[in-house]
Amino acid sequence: MASPINKEWHLAHRMPEKASMDQRIHWHVEHRKHCRCRPEIPLRVREEMEERGMR
Ligand SMILES: [Zn+2]
Repeated sequence: MASPINKEWHLAHRMPEKASMDQRIHWHVEHRKHCRCRPEIPLRVREEMEERGMR
Protein backbone atom coordinates (compact mmCIF):
# COMPACT_ATOMS: atom_id res chain seq x y z
CA MET A 1 0.00 0.00 0.00
CA ALA A 2 1.37 3.39 -0.94
CA SER A 3 2.14 5.75 1.88
CA PRO A 4 0.11 8.95 1.83
CA ILE A 5 3.26 10.84 2.70
CA ASN A 6 5.28 12.18 -0.20
CA LYS A 7 8.64 11.80 1.50
CA GLU A 8 10.61 13.16 -1.40
CA TRP A 9 8.58 16.33 -1.41
CA HIS A 10 9.02 16.74 2.34
CA LEU A 11 12.76 16.25 2.11
CA ALA A 12 13.00 18.81 -0.66
CA HIS A 13 10.69 21.30 1.06
CA ARG A 14 11.58 21.63 4.67
CA MET A 15 9.77 24.36 6.54
CA PRO A 16 12.40 26.92 7.56
CA GLU A 17 12.79 27.11 11.32
CA LYS A 18 11.79 30.75 11.48
CA ALA A 19 9.47 30.82 8.51
CA SER A 20 7.67 34.04 7.76
CA MET A 21 3.88 33.96 7.35
CA ASP A 22 4.38 34.15 3.58
CA GLN A 23 6.66 31.14 3.67
CA ARG A 24 4.27 29.18 5.85
CA ILE A 25 1.30 29.86 3.58
CA HIS A 26 3.34 28.97 0.53
CA TRP A 27 4.51 25.76 2.17
CA HIS A 28 1.01 24.63 3.03
CA VAL A 29 -0.39 25.51 -0.39
CA GLU A 30 2.37 23.59 -2.13
CA HIS A 31 2.09 20.78 0.36
CA ARG A 32 -1.57 20.20 -0.40
CA LYS A 33 -0.77 19.86 -4.09
CA HIS A 34 1.96 17.29 -3.61
CA CYS A 35 1.24 15.32 -0.50
CA ARG A 36 -1.73 13.80 1.30
CA CYS A 37 -0.36 13.42 4.80
CA ARG A 38 -2.46 16.40 5.95
CA PRO A 39 -0.49 17.97 8.75
CA GLU A 40 -2.69 20.34 10.65
CA ILE A 41 -2.50 23.86 9.28
CA PRO A 42 -2.00 26.15 12.27
CA LEU A 43 -5.00 28.34 12.98
CA ARG A 44 -2.97 31.50 12.48
CA VAL A 45 -1.99 30.34 9.00
CA ARG A 46 -5.55 29.34 8.10
CA GLU A 47 -6.84 32.75 9.18
CA GLU A 48 -4.24 34.50 7.11
CA MET A 49 -5.09 32.35 4.09
CA GLU A 50 -8.77 33.23 4.43
CA GLU A 51 -7.95 36.91 4.67
CA ARG A 52 -6.11 36.52 1.40
CA GLY A 53 -9.08 34.76 -0.17
CA MET A 54 -7.41 31.34 -0.27
CA ARG A 55 -8.92 28.11 0.88
ZN1 LIG B 1 3.00 15.81 3.73
